[in-house]
Amino acid sequence: MTKATSARTSSASRPMDDPGAAASSRVFVGLGANLGDARATLEAALVALRGLACAQSSWQVSSFWRSAPVEASGPDFLNAVAAFDTARTPHALLDALQAIELHFGRERPYRNAPRTLDLDLLLYGVAGVDGGRVLADERLVLPHPRAHLRAFVLEPLAELWPDGVIAGRGSVAALRGALRASGDQRIERLPG
Ligand code: AMP
Repeated sequence: MTKATSARTSSASRPMDDPGAAASSRVFVGLGANLGDARATLEAALVALRGLACAQSSWQVSSFWRSAPVEASGPDFLNAVAAFDTARTPHALLDALQAIELHFGRERPYRNAPRTLDLDLLLYGVAGVDGGRVLADERLVLPHPRAHLRAFVLEPLAELWPDGVIAGRGSVAALRGALRASGDQRIERLPG
C-alpha cells in the first residue's frame, strides 16, 4: 500500500447502490503506534484493516500524524484514521481489531503502556454527518469514549469527515477547534 499523503478516498460502488449487497455499516478506526518502525506498522495494519471491509466498500485513509503521547509513555506516536464499510457487528469488529493488535505483538503489561499497535473503534454505523451507533457495555463503548478529547483522533478524523458530529459530544470541527485553541496536545501532519 502506498503511504497516505493526504486524505484519500478510493471508491467502489457503495452497497446501497447494489440491492443485492449484504447490509454493511460505515466505521471509523483510529490507528496508533509508538514502538519500532511505527510507519511500517501503520502501513501493514491498514492492509489488515482492508481485509475487514466489504468487497464493495469505499475506503478512506487520513494523512499520517505525529503526536505527543497522551496519558501514555514512550516516544511520539504515529496516528491515522481509516474509514470503510463492514458487514461485521460492532463486537465482532472489535474482536477482529484486537486480533490484528495481537498479530502486531501488542502487549498490555500495564495501562497505557507503549504499544506496537493500538486500534480503536471510533464510530460505527456512520451515515452522512450522523456519528452512528451509541452503546456501552463491559467490552465496547461507542462512540469511543475518549475520541472527542484527543487531537490524534480529531485531526485525522476531520480530514475524512469534516462535517461529522460525534453523538453526545459535538461536531468534529468544534471539538478540534477547541483542542487547537488549548494548545495542550502537540501534533503535526506528516508530509506525504
Ligand atoms: P486500550 O488499551 O486503550 O486500547 O483499550 C482497550 C480496551 O478498551 C479493551 O478492553 C476494549 O474492550 C475497550 N474498549 C471499549 N470501547 C472501545 C472502543 N470503542 N474501541 C476499542 N476498545 C474499546
